[in-house]
Amino acid sequence: MNKIASWGNYKKVTTNLIYPKDKKSLIKLIKQKKELLTFGNGRSYGDVCLNKKNLISLRNFKRIISFDKKKGIIDVESGILMSELLPIILKNNFFLPVTSGTKFVTLGGMVANNIHGKNVVKNYFSDYIISIKLINNSGKLINCSKKNNKKLFDLTTGGIGLTGTILSVKFRLKKIYSTKLIKKNIYFRNLNNLYDFDKLKSKYDYSVTWIDSFSSPESIRGIHFFAKHILKKKEDINFKIKKNYINFLHKFVFKIFNNFYLFRFVNIVFFLSHYLNPIKKVQFEKFFYIQDKYYDWNKIYGDEGFVEVHILIPKKKAISFLKSFFEFCKRNKIYSNLIVLKRLKHKKKFINFAGDGLAFSADFTINKNYSDIKSFFLNNAHKYNYIFYTAKDSIFSKKNFKFDKNFIKFKKEIKKINKNNKISSLLSDRTGITS
Ligand SMILES: Cc1cc2nc3c(=O)[nH]c(=O)nc-3n(C[C@H](O)[C@H](O)[C@H](O)COP(=O)(O)OP(=O)(O)OC[C@H]3O[C@@H](n4cnc5c(N)ncnc54)[C@H](O)[C@@H]3O)c2cc1C
Repeated sequence: MNKIASWGNYKKVTTNLIYPKDKKSLIKLIKQKKELLTFGNGRSYGDVCLNKKNLISLRNFKRIISFDKKKGIIDVESGILMSELLPIILKNNFFLPVTSGTKFVTLGGMVANNIHGKNVVKNYFSDYIISIKLINNSGKLINCSKKNNKKLFDLTTGGIGLTGTILSVKFRLKKIYSTKLIKKNIYFRNLNNLYDFDKLKSKYDYSVTWIDSFSSPESIRGIHFFAKHILKKKEDINFKIKKNYINFLHKFVFKIFNNFYLFRFVNIVFFLSHYLNPIKKVQFEKFFYIQDKYYDWNKIYGDEGFVEVHILIPKKKAISFLKSFFEFCKRNKIYSNLIVLKRLKHKKKFINFAGDGLAFSADFTINKNYSDIKSFFLNNAHKYNYIFYTAKDSIFSKKNFKFDKNFIKFKKEIKKINKNNKISSLLSDRTGITS
């Protein structure tokens, strides 16, 4: 048995982690086991990647099946990490069409959570998928796409692994000429220009907003980051995928100073470094993967771990939500370690984290304030109509989904194909999809 924790190190299980070697043994395993879940690289913050009985890892499945370098279409086995795929595609002047804030995720995990990126348009990974090969829970291999088995295709993208094991994914890449981007930072001291995202859509490829966690409700300040790929005829492809690990000193300093003053100081340094350099050329890693500076930075939070609350708030309600969040923080002397906003737009299908709104994510240390933080987000869900993101969630329960039509539809369809709840996660049980 293995002790497995997700990224937040808050949710943990003792389970059987199995690494099948080939397709034949994978299918045999799926047929044999009564309870299971496919495991990616455990970079989900909450419990969507945890199962108490069997976790099946596809890390032995990372073959490139085909790569059309003219059309920029690639078909890859799902156990590959983006840190392994990037060197292959970058060399050929391609980048991922959508990427999360870390490259240490598997392709299967990206599809199952339907990850979103900083793209100003088409910001979900599912927008770029052509087809998926899936092994369902009775061990049958099924090809699905927008034309073939469309319902299964829609359920699988964002299906949190409940439709079966994704064996491989064919998707479109983004053509690039340089691994550098032009980055522009715009500082703001209130929410009047929050929707600058929308205005600058045509000028930039990406946008993301950092909010100063120590803002007051009257003056919520932060920085909008915009970036675009450099279009150069002369090739300028340069990269080095590095892995640094945190050491004893980092852990020690964090343990002693994990308090208001440390985060206030970090926020000021972060703000000044970006405020003083409003336009800059940066390597792609410095824009997309700042958090990968340390491969295992989550360990800094120690055994108690941390949580991230990640919700999508309808556009019309986002500003009043942010004000009420900062009022709550001020009243209770609570602060988040990191707050990020992204503008997302997607037509709702089955995928449960989709809509036209503002994605709000905030990290919190697990301490005496945690139960108040949890109550704040649970109690306000109905008022602000926000939905949670499967990849990050640790707090929502069955009660929160009573009125969510999209979620109810997803649950109904999953019940039809996932007989006896054979595939499940702690999250799918907690939210009532498989319990
Ligand atoms: C630092 C950091 C930054 C992040 N930034 C973002 C971001 O910007 N945007 C965003 O959307 N997400 C972000 N994430 C979340 C991350 O992208 C997702 O949690 C992703 O799904 C993790 O992939 P994984 O391979 O680790 O999968 P896991 O966490 O192991 O699993 C995730 C889900 O995928 C399922 N799964 C995995 N492989 C398969 C397969 N082969 N077949 C079927 N199901 C499978 C699992 O059952 C589980 O339900 C971030 C995470 C970190 C740690």
